[in-house]
Formats: sequence, C-alpha cells, structure tokens
Amino acid sequence: MRGLRKAYAGRPAVDGIDLRIEAGEIFALLGPNGAGKTTTVEILEGFRRRDAGDVSVLGRDPVRGGLEWRSRIGIVLQTSTGLDLITPREALASTAKVYRRPRDVDEVLAAVGLLDKADDRVGKLSGGQRRRLDVGLGIVGTPELLFLDEPTTGFDPQARRDFWDLIRSLADGGTTMVLTTHYLDEAEHLADRVGVIAAGRMLAVDTPANLGGRASSEATVTWEDQAGGRHTERTGTPTQLVASLAERLGGEIPKLTVTRPSLEDTYLALIAPHAQVGADSAQPRTDVVA
Ligand code: ATP
Repeated sequence: MRGLRKAYAGRPAVDGIDLRIEAGEIFALLGPNGAGKTTTVEILEGFRRRDAGDVSVLGRDPVRGGLEWRSRIGIVLQTSTGLDLITPREALASTAKVYRRPRDVDEVLAAVGLLDKADDRVGKLSGGQRRRLDVGLGIVGTPELLFLDEPTTGFDPQARRDFWDLIRSLADGGTTMVLTTHYLDEAEHLADRVGVIAAGRMLAVDTPANLGGRASSEATVTWEDQAGGRHTERTGTPTQLVASLAERLGGEIPKLTVTRPSLEDTYLALIAPHAQVGADSAQPRTDVVA
C-alpha cells in the first residue's frame, strides 16, 4: 500500500500509510485502540473503501478483487456468529465447499485441536475452543494470505502456545499472515516484522528484535554487593561491566540480571506521544462495503 488514507466524517483514521508485506512473511500490526489497524486491514481485505492511495493484495486492487481473488484469502475475524446450532465439523465442511482448494475437514480439526469437539454444538464450545474454530474456518480454504484479528484473545497460556505452533506451521507451509494483536509477546514470538501504528500513521516497521533501535540500546545491569545493597547501572558494554564486577566481587555476582528494553518497553516509548488517541474507538461502525 502506498499513501493509504481513510477518514470517517472528516476525521482521519488512516493518514498516509506506506507498507509492503512480502509473500511468506508473518507481519504483525501493533497499535493502541483506535490507531487505524482494523481500518487498514479491512481495506486490504476488500471490506472497506479507501479515500486515497494505491493498494495491491496478491496482485489485485481489493475493491475489484472478485471471487477468484477472495478464495485465495482467509480471514479470522474477532468473532463469527450464527454457528451455535451446528457442529465444528459441519461449519468447516460447509465453508470448505465454497473454496476451490479446500483442506480435508478432519485435517483442519486436528490442526486446530478440535477433533474431540468435532461433533458438539458450536454453542457449547468454550471461548478458546470457539477461537480455534474461527482459525479453522480461516484456513479451511488453503489461503495464500491469512488475516488474523487478535487471534488469541481469551486463550489460556497453553492454548496460546499451541496456537503459535499452528501459525508457525502454516507459515512453514508458505502462508503469508497479517495479524493484529495487543499481545507484545505474541508479536515477538510469531512475527518476522512488526509495524506500529498510532493515530493512523506508521511509526516504525522492523523486526521485533530491532524495533526502535532495541538491539543496540543500552542494557541495564543489576546486582547486589556483599552487604546486600542493590545496584543498577545502564551501560552499552554490559559484558565488560559484568567481568569487572566478577573480579571485584571475587567470582559469582549475587542476584545478577542483565536486561535490554523489552518489545513492550520499545512499543510504549514509540506510542507515548499518541497515548491519548483511541478514546473514541467505540464509535458505531458504518461504511462497510457489502
Ligand atoms: P482497536 O485496537 O481498538 O481494534 P484499531 O487500531 O483497529 O483499534 P480502527 O478500528 O481502525 O482502530 O479505528 C480507527 C479510528 O477510526 C477510530 O478513531 C475509530 O473510532 C474510527 N472508526 C473506525 N471505524 C469507523 C466507522 N465505521 N465509522 C466511524 N468511525 C470509525
């Protein structure tokens, strides 16, 4: 996308975003509530019209995507509705029918860990199991490109780990993925690159390790001396400091820690100037393309 813009009632939601996502990448969009992530993603999915800018998704303008283009894309929405009375197997089987290259339903049920719930009513699934079904519905058509909107909200820690493995295995199979998430550890674990959006602008795009100069930022070294006093020092050369401390303290350094800014620290620093943005993100949605 180049120069992507979208305003609602004259108020910019996406304010000139340039971004190129490569085939095979897992790309995470991060940003506070109301930053413009969903608007951007829905424009890429062809569900929302843009005001300005060039957009190409799998080689086509999403506004003129058509059925063939749509069948190459999978979408995992925040919640799908209207499935309560059927079973996961039935939901997947009927969705599979609309695609040209459907995956085997049992294979999908196994991939998302729902084989033992395959024939229960969807309405009886737990929140996390329901999310797994949403992911299953997103991948049953063997998409080349998969959009995932806050995919692990409501997952327990083990379910999140299992889900991350699933996403990684899809990526290993060549699926390109664009995910929005508020979990920084999820972005760090999964994404090849992350983009941070605030107030409709892209503030930074980089690998999780390098975002905002993380890799080269100073480390914080903390330790305790023999009398039990805590010490903290910020340094660009932590190895040297630790070596000199070891020498001074005669071997093991009590309660030693060496840390660099986490992805969350870096993210919060990036968005700090925009922190007030998003208070109005609960406005009713209009303008959705049918
Ligand atoms: P969240 O993390 O809360 O999902 P987001 O980054 O996805 O937020 P968007 O949903 O893209 O943010 O919203 C960006 C801005 O556009 C917000 O100020 C929001 O209130 C506004 N907005 C979004 N959709 C509409 C709409 N249909 N009508 C009017 N305003 C809208």
